[in-house]
Amino acid sequence: MSESVLYDVAVVGAGPAGLTAAIFAARQGALTVLLDRMPDPGQKLLLSGGGRCNILPTTVDPASYITDSSSYTLRNILLSWPLADVRAFLEADIGLKIKTDSATGKLHVSGGGKAARSGLFEAAKRAGVKIKQSFHLVRFNGSDPFFLTSPQKITIRGTRAVLACGGLSYPQTGSDGSGLDIARSREHQIVPPYPALTTLIGARSSHRNLAGISITVTVTARSETEQASSRGGFLFTHRGYSGPAILNTSHVVSRARQHRQQVQVFVAWTDRTEEEWQTLLTQGKKTVRGVLTHEMPDRLADQLLEEISLFDARVATLEKDRREQLIRTLTNYPLPITRNDGFNAAEVTGGGVHLGEVDPKTMQSKRVSNLYFCGEMLDAFGPIGGNNFLWAFVTGKRAGEAAGTDFS
Ligand SMILES: Cc1cc2nc3c(=O)[nH]c(=O)nc-3n(C[C@H](O)[C@H](O)[C@H](O)COP(=O)(O)OP(=O)(O)OC[C@H]3O[C@@H](n4cnc5c(N)ncnc54)[C@H](O)[C@@H]3O)c2cc1C
Repeated sequence: MSESVLYDVAVVGAGPAGLTAAIFAARQGALTVLLDRMPDPGQKLLLSGGGRCNILPTTVDPASYITDSSSYTLRNILLSWPLADVRAFLEADIGLKIKTDSATGKLHVSGGGKAARSGLFEAAKRAGVKIKQSFHLVRFNGSDPFFLTSPQKITIRGTRAVLACGGLSYPQTGSDGSGLDIARSREHQIVPPYPALTTLIGARSSHRNLAGISITVTVTARSETEQASSRGGFLFTHRGYSGPAILNTSHVVSRARQHRQQVQVFVAWTDRTEEEWQTLLTQGKKTVRGVLTHEMPDRLADQLLEEISLFDARVATLEKDRREQLIRTLTNYPLPITRNDGFNAAEVTGGGVHLGEVDPKTMQSKRVSNLYFCGEMLDAFGPIGGNNFLWAFVTGKRAGEAAGTDFS
């Protein structure tokens, strides 16, 4: 069954990227339809930031984003919409109230993800976007116009199409990788997707006793070909390790696994240098445990000492090689991990449509005319802290503005 309407622009995927693209296309006067396979789309907005929706970063650092495509292209795209202007759009046009969390300095939406999602949907409706839920794009024919077909064989026609289907992470939210399959079927180069910003599974059962301990550490993940470091929160869980420092380095583990490489993850449990530890563990009358428990939670100190069989030692009598072993444990601890926690637990998908496949000024495909890409489908992601919504908004605007021109 084919709808009689020929839409100017059909946007597929009603996450933050697709919503932004649809708003900008419709604002140009294009007859725009926004399609999503879910009955209740925009689910990641609801889950984001633990429900509080960390909507934007406080500063933009293109070098902190990861891509296998050109980092120069990524930078050009990311900086094309200044952060202050994105914020002004969200506040003035979408009507969101963005507040700074006094404890973390992060930017959250007043009313959380629920308010962000309803604000974006309402703005799309105000702009005249037609929204159709439960439309799962399975096939995609032609390019003038496109025929977009769902499993129920309902066909929507659009002169231009924007794919904003996300990646493979949190598939229960709707992003099941089908958008990438469609892009692949039209000969686009896809950087093999991998889970990113994800938790890691632990290999040492004794660490499960530490579940719930949360501290600030520096994590460094190192494979044969890359390295990433992050200082921030670290959380012991019942299955392994989580927290921002783990999430921000987990892609190295995913990519090493993908390329069958060795990978190691090291932790510096405090911000003390080796020299500082050297001093602390040489002078004074304290026990080693006494020194450690002053710097970290007791249970963690006990675990680390047990692992190197160092009990009840006094600093003054500590042998040189034992002191060095302890300092290595404190500053360069090899975390016993087995693997990442997979796409089901990954906040984003790394890889995706290679940035070289799109014109960075318009996000238009270089292979299929009148086809555009935006959001997490593209080969780029940033660290936690609002960077991925920023990417969705910036690429969504570029794609929507370009797709929506010449129709008014
Ligand atoms: C738990 C969690 C917390 C997060 N917290 C934050 C945060 O606080 N700050 C931040 O910046 N980022 C956060 N992120 C990341 C952020 O949510 C994503 O990067 C962002 O949503 C990507 O936007 P998108 O529009 O490209 O894709 P998505 O949000 O994944 O949306 C894609 C949409 O496309 C639809 N779709 C897919 N395939 C088809 C198809 N074939 N036919 C029709 N529809 C289809 C899906 O149903 C979905 O609605 C979080 C992610 C998760 C999972």
